[in-house]
Amino acid sequence: MARKVLVLGEIREGALRNVSFEAIAAAKTVAEGGEVVGVLLSDRASDFAQEIIAYGADRVILVEDEKLKTYTSDGFGQAILQILDTEKPEGIIMGHTALGKDLAPKVAAKMESGLISDATAVEVTGDQVVFTRPIYSGKAFEKNSIPDGIVFATIRPNNIAALEKDGTRTGEVSSFNAEIKDLRTIIKEIVRKTSEGVDLSEAKVIVAGGRGVKSANGFKVLQDLANTLGGAVGASRGACDADYCDYSLQIGQTGKVVTPDLYIACGISGAIQHLAGMSNSKVIVAINKDPEANIFQVADYGIVGDLFEVVPLLTEEIKKSLV
Ligand code: FAD
Repeated sequence: MARKVLVLGEIREGALRNVSFEAIAAAKTVAEGGEVVGVLLSDRASDFAQEIIAYGADRVILVEDEKLKTYTSDGFGQAILQILDTEKPEGIIMGHTALGKDLAPKVAAKMESGLISDATAVEVTGDQVVFTRPIYSGKAFEKNSIPDGIVFATIRPNNIAALEKDGTRTGEVSSFNAEIKDLRTIIKEIVRKTSEGVDLSEAKVIVAGGRGVKSANGFKVLQDLANTLGGAVGASRGACDADYCDYSLQIGQTGKVVTPDLYIACGISGAIQHLAGMSNSKVIVAINKDPEANIFQVADYGIVGDLFEVVPLLTEEIKKSLV
């Protein structure tokens, strides 16, 4: 069944987030040959329209408004609900990001529709669109579909492959005149705690440190390896609690859930709450002094040793191979 599917493109710090392109790929599956429509909400949405098309959107709807310069559920909610009312799509896909987690339930509630959150795969079986999502902190997966009404899902970053970018693709770009009433929330300033660089939730490579790193200074060796691999640094709660790094780097049940191509765990014991946030990484490398550490149970490659010896050696070897 051909469907019209809307995809919310997420703009952050002057760029579209990768998950937007992954959402387009998911929407293509859901659309079954129907139309994939990108939606961009921003004060300068038009800057990103061609990129959305290059990644596979057939058409793009722009809402440009100063009130959409930074995300608020109020402003974005008003804009998207008006677009949905006009477009009447059969599907909506958003990223399972901080924005998507906030906006999607609000929109679903207003529309009285179902919502499948945090999907890691999508397929069409018969006339049903079936999403796979992790449950029990990633120990099992369930398959869900919404039998009646709009197919609405948020997708976890780094799980559904984006389509190849094709700059020759063309598509219609139109402006939508949304009436955004005065916002109840005004964002005056955004203060970022994380250092600049690769976003943890979308990073393809993560070098994570635990209590075994022993100090804030100790994280420098991990940062060096992460920089060499073009990745991001993450942490266990043990490291955050010990004040070695900021809580925004915490991975796990009460931190971020990540699925990079490569996860290098350094001085992390592998508590169940930590595994909940990273065990679905594609390749896991563990470096730990203790051969009995639980992290080795989920690791594809294990190195028993002192991270302060192993990590600099790894960085050096990788740097050599990159020359
Ligand atoms: P430790 O368990 O102390 O492990 C340190 C490891 O470093 C050891 O295995 C040790 O052998 C190794 N080591 C020491 N020195 C070296 C060295 N020089 N070289 C190599 N290895 C070395 N934890 C999370 O991570 N994320 C969460 O989201 C989270 N949520 C939680 C929610 C709840 C409700 C609760 C109760 C706990 C939660 N925790 C979470 C905490 C979790 O239970 C563990 O306490 C925590 O993950 C331990 O952190 P760690 O592995 O860094 O420290």
